[in-house]
Amino acid sequence: MTERVGDVVLIEPEPDRLCQYCGEFKECRPYGPNGTDICFKCAMATPERKAEAVAAFRRVLGDGPVEIVDLRRKPSRTEGAP
Ligand SMILES: [Zn+2]
Repeated sequence: MTERVGDVVLIEPEPDRLCQYCGEFKECRPYGPNGTDICFKCAMATPERKAEAVAAFRRVLGDGPVEIVDLRRKPSRTEGAP
C-alpha cells in the first residue's frame, strides 16, 4: 500500500493482483479509473491512463512537499510537491 504518514509517503510492495487491463497477475496499484487495479505497464500504455495514474498518485501525495520512501528499492529521496 502507498500512504502518506505526516510528511512522508511510504511506497510498500504490493502482493500480486489481477490487472484489470492485461489480465495478468502482477504488482498492481489502485490507480486505474475509479480505483481499479492496474499494473505499471498498462498504466503507462496510453497518455490517458498515464494521466489517470499520475492524478491518483498525486491524490495520495496530498499537498506540500513530502519525502518519498520507496520500501521496494533504495532508502529514500526527497521530492517537491506536484
Ligand atoms: Zn496490466
